[in-house]
Amino acid sequence: MGLRIDEATFLERAISRFGARYDYSQMTYKSYRTPIKIRCVEHPVREVVITPERHLQTTGGCKYCLRNYRNQTLERVLRMECESSELPAPLLPRAPQEPPVAGQKSKAV
Ligand SMILES: [Zn+2]
Repeated sequence: MGLRIDEATFLERAISRFGARYDYSQMTYKSYRTPIKIRCVEHPVREVVITPERHLQTTGGCKYCLRNYRNQTLERVLRMECESSELPAPLLPRAPQEPPVAGQKSKAV
């Protein structure tokens, strides 16, 4: 039962999904469900510890990539919203200042 994914199969899938985004040279592959240590090539400051299974199901495990991915998605949504309501804000014509009301007629003479 269950599907056995060996290291070669995992690497093949990972590379077809992420290309050269992650560095797998430091990982010790034991099984599909045993966490491995990999590195994001773009953000090598932090090792990514993730199971091969999760790696293939998510954006890969790099928090920074995930954040970028979310930002991009958010930006796209915001841009679409902007474009759909791209009316210039109406300029309010400034009302001419009224001169102060002259004199009060209610003063008893
Ligand atoms: Zn990354």
